Amino acid sequence: MRWDRQADVVVVGSGATGLPAAIVARERGCSVILVEAEKDIGGHAIISGGNVPLGGGTSVQKKYGIKDSPDLVFRDLTDWSVVGPNGFPDYRYNDREIVRAFADNSAATFEWLVARGVVFVDKAPDALGGNSVGNSVPREMHSAVMHWPMAHTGEPADPAMQKTRSSGNGLMRSLEVAAKEAGVEILLEHRMTSIQRRAPNCGPVLGIAVDHKGARLNIRARKAVIIGTGGSTGNVNFRRMFDPRLTEEYCGLAGMPWSDQDGSGELAAMAIGASLWGFYNQIGEFGSNVTKPGSIGRQYNYRHLQWMPGSPVFGRARATGLRVADWQDVILVNMLGKRFYDETGGQYIANNYNSLDPYVQGSYLNAKNLEWNPNNFLNAALAAIDDGHNGGGPIWAIFDSDAVAREEWTPAPPHADIAAGFFFSADRLADLAEKIVMKYQRVPMPPTNLEETVARYNSFVDSGVDEDFGKPKPIYKIAKPPFYAAWATPVVHDTRAGLRINAKCQVLDMSGEVIQGLYCGGESAGGFSQHGRARAACQGYIAGNAAAGAR
Ligand SMILES: Cc1cc2nc3c(=O)[nH]c(=O)nc-3n(C[C@H](O)[C@H](O)[C@H](O)COP(=O)(O)OP(=O)(O)OC[C@H]3O[C@@H](n4cnc5c(N)ncnc54)[C@H](O)[C@@H]3O)c2cc1C
Repeated sequence: MRWDRQADVVVVGSGATGLPAAIVARERGCSVILVEAEKDIGGHAIISGGNVPLGGGTSVQKKYGIKDSPDLVFRDLTDWSVVGPNGFPDYRYNDREIVRAFADNSAATFEWLVARGVVFVDKAPDALGGNSVGNSVPREMHSAVMHWPMAHTGEPADPAMQKTRSSGNGLMRSLEVAAKEAGVEILLEHRMTSIQRRAPNCGPVLGIAVDHKGARLNIRARKAVIIGTGGSTGNVNFRRMFDPRLTEEYCGLAGMPWSDQDGSGELAAMAIGASLWGFYNQIGEFGSNVTKPGSIGRQYNYRHLQWMPGSPVFGRARATGLRVADWQDVILVNMLGKRFYDETGGQYIANNYNSLDPYVQGSYLNAKNLEWNPNNFLNAALAAIDDGHNGGGPIWAIFDSDAVAREEWTPAPPHADIAAGFFFSADRLADLAEKIVMKYQRVPMPPTNLEETVARYNSFVDSGVDEDFGKPKPIYKIAKPPFYAAWATPVVHDTRAGLRINAKCQVLDMSGEVIQGLYCGGESAGGFSQHGRARAACQGYIAGNAAAGAR
């Protein structure tokens, strides 16, 4: 092997896992190269909502008199008895060793972030935002957006809100500054393509290969390679190992097009013998693995993220979307122009702080006390339509010009993505159905289907009863042209299953043996069902420390 570059520790990915890992390793005396596939740092973490559930007895919890401990964090995140309103358990299948490591390092990670310049909104920890983040005491902290331009707008936040608004922007830019000050070498537009091991399935990891604008570079890692590549939900073949329904039409990933979750870390590690772990956490119907769109008429339609024309990636995002304030304003139809569910239905949810009342640790009464609520529309939206395909195909929001007025939408670019086929309009419903031609619409929408669906729905408005799906009192007819069809297909979000790791974030092989010199954390690691950045930052912290002492 000819090595083009060398460092003690090579970190892959500059998101919530990678940057902390790189800084910690550097601070512990290692030379560190961090490679990032995109043109800028931050990954999904930089566009995240900034809710960070790190607890276990942080200085802020103490300041506000909140009693917490590593044991309580561990107990909460492994409590088999906590279930969501549809009966799915959030924490039952978490790997005890991995959660124990998180519990023991959670408070330390928080203090470490603060000491590296990360500013958290100055208030008591709460239960706002995030999901699957534990159940018994307030732990949720919120990193402030700060003064740096935001990835989704290209502009800084309003100065009056820079220290009070929760966002991943401030967290990741602060860590970028800390990394550079510490002497981490960050190589942007360097995409890791493979991991080198002494022999294909044995011996220590030696380094990685990267692609830099079409050229291959080999980077030697004298001590360790740390994978922080952010998961696999953007890779259709990979995600279908977990859920065969998630075919290519689910193309509106949360966090894209800023950065992808292409499974490259997992695939490279599997190619040298690594094992995957904790599949249930990916397919359990809780949390945000698959979500209901929050806006319509654009490809990347995650509810908490609107790409604005000033964003550096707006050219790829193409539209801001039309935010839906009231799902009474639209009906949702499948590829065949048929309704399939009550449009006001939500998505999978997760159990957070005290959403079970009373909450008794480890008691079946938690499930008994739950209010049964199966009302999410995702399974119906993902249901196949019997065309021999596993995925349900596109979902279209159908509405009229009165709905446009009520919602105060502008049904045109840059709000609606007409050019790429995520938004259509016509003066007649039959014409609208015929116009829906785009790459994910596998079969044409029969015009009579759409006409009949709308006529039947309008009759429900007259009677006040949705006889098909029980939408609470349908209010508005779809009657006034022009008529519209806007992309409203479910969004793929979190990855909660990935590489098998141990308490030190070392990657294990199919025999349960450590692959020497290989570490992983965040969404590319398995065994831990918790949304987001706390898990990632904490595992980055653990991996950076462990890797610095490796070999
Ligand atoms: C819109 C949105 C809102 C969110 N809000 C919250 C929130 O409020 N609270 C919360 O806790 N979590 C939130 N999350 C989730 C959270 O951002 C992620 O769970 C977290 O960032 C995962 O960290 P990670 O290090 O695993 O991946 P990321 O932060 O995504 O970082 C992965 C990095 O690796 C890079 N990469 C990938 N492959 C390669 C390769 N082959 N070579 C080199 N680099 C590569 C990527 O480009 C990326 O920069 C949100 C996510 C999104 C998308």
